Amino acid sequence: MNIVVPFTKLEPATEALARRHGAGFVDVSQDDEAYYRLLTRLWGMGESFLIVEHDIVPAEQVIAEMRDCSEPWCAAPFPQLLALKTADGQPVRRLQLALTWGLGLMRFNAALLRSHPDALERAGSLSRHWHDLDKTLLHVVLKGERHVPGPHLHYGECRHLRTEVDRFPLEPRLAAHHAVT
Ligand SMILES: [Zn+2]
Repeated sequence: MNIVVPFTKLEPATEALARRHGAGFVDVSQDDEAYYRLLTRLWGMGESFLIVEHDIVPAEQVIAEMRDCSEPWCAAPFPQLLALKTADGQPVRRLQLALTWGLGLMRFNAALLRSHPDALERAGSLSRHWHDLDKTLLHVVLKGERHVPGPHLHYGECRHLRTEVDRFPLEPRLAAHHAVT
C-alpha cells in the first residue's frame, strides 16, 4: 500500500510509524496549494494510496485493516478541535473536541480514483487552499454530490498529536483546557 505523509512540521512519532511502513514523505510547506498539487498528482497516478498527515499516529491495526479492506474509500476517525459557530456561521470563540474523519488519515483505492477521475479538478474549481480540501474534495465532491454515506470507517486507536488550537483566536486558558494529545 502506497503510504504518503504530507508535512509541514513532521511529528517524530508519525515519522517513525510511517518509516516502518516504507511511506513517502512530501513537504507541502512551499505554499497554500502544495497539498492540493500533491493530491492531484496521486490521483492522476491511479493507484491506491493512504494519506497519513504529519501529526496523526494510527495504531498498527488500523493500517493493517485499511491495507486489507476492499472498500473504495476508508478513514479512521481521530480527535479534532472544532470551532463552535452560531446558527448563522459566526464563531463563538469556543472549541468542541470531536471524533471526526478527514484527510488526516484516509485511504483512497484505485476504484474510487477511477470512478471520480475529475474529483481534484472539481474540488480545485472551488478552492485549492489546503485548509479547504476536506470540505471541497471530501464533502462537496466525493460525498455531497452523489449522496453517498461517506468513507468506510475503521475505529481503531488513532492519535492526533497536535490539535489546531492556534488556528483559532482563543484565550490560552481555554486552549489549555481543551488540549488533547
Ligand atoms: Zn475500509
